[in-house]
Amino acid sequence: MSTAAPYNQWSVIRMGLPVIVVHGGAGKWKDERIPIGVEQVRQAALVGFEVLKRGGSALDAAEVCTAYMESCGKLNAGVSAARNLDGIRELDAMIVDGSRLDFGSVAAVTGIYNPISLARYVMEKTPHKFFAGENARRVYAQMLADGYRPERSPGILDITAETLGPVSDDTVGCVVVDSQGRVAATSSTGGTRKKMPGRVGDSPIMGAGAYANEVCGVAATGQGEHIIRVLLSRTVALYVEQGDDPQLAARRGIELLIEKTGSEAGLIVADVKGGTGMWTNAKAMPAAVICGDESSLRVFSMRDEINSYEP
Ligand code: ASP
Repeated sequence: MSTAAPYNQWSVIRMGLPVIVVHGGAGKWKDERIPIGVEQVRQAALVGFEVLKRGGSALDAAEVCTAYMESCGKLNAGVSAARNLDGIRELDAMIVDGSRLDFGSVAAVTGIYNPISLARYVMEKTPHKFFAGENARRVYAQMLADGYRPERSPGILDITAETLGPVSDDTVGCVVVDSQGRVAATSSTGGTRKKMPGRVGDSPIMGAGAYANEVCGVAATGQGEHIIRVLLSRTVALYVEQGDDPQLAARRGIELLIEKTGSEAGLIVADVKGGTGMWTNAKAMPAAVICGDESSLRVFSMRDEINSYEP
């Protein structure tokens, strides 16, 4: 275990905030698709950062960034998510509010292409945390009737920095830390290709597909069945709480996953001091990072590049 000072002794927030780290899914990306994935995470990071610049919170930025990736039609989430064995898109998503240790999740939803906003509605506006299947659609109908988010076309929301307003082979996800040190993390996916109908992976499970608290946020991507077994995102957050920097924590998380399950995954991590990290043992994971201001935007994709990331 690291001997570094525990986080609760670090009261000073570093100048590098806000930060946004985005991934477009770890896996066996076809070479020709990698630049497409990289371009989408780059755009998603900028879109999320725009929300922060307009005074939005980490949660607002994380929602808009993830909704962008769900709507872009190029990633395994939202409108272009992987289909199950019946040829249906059954989507899972979660949003985590680290400052309140709160989350909202939806699983196996159909006909809804921005499940991240529904997950946030579940967290903020219902007495529950997690809805699954058919009945999640009733919550979606309630969300629209409440005017919580506008719909652009059936099942697709109009979520941008503007519409959120001035605000007081391969899954997608992000971790955002705003300038007040509030942390949010998301995951959104169509799940694994040709999954059995009704199958739910790690993405909507708090502590597995993503996690955030007052110290850091983590988002995971990979074979959900195995990510759940080691509660990968919570485990990595614990490493950070114990003193690891985010890059080391991400690396240790993947090493643990390999040791316990032999599986493949990718992780992105950010902490309240502005530290960021990423690690994968998959072939590729398109990822983008912005620390402090847009001019710092960097993108990554191949395993070696990700694992030699220097914050
Ligand atoms: N973790 C997702 C799942 O198992 C898949 C992915 O990350 O690509 O549903």
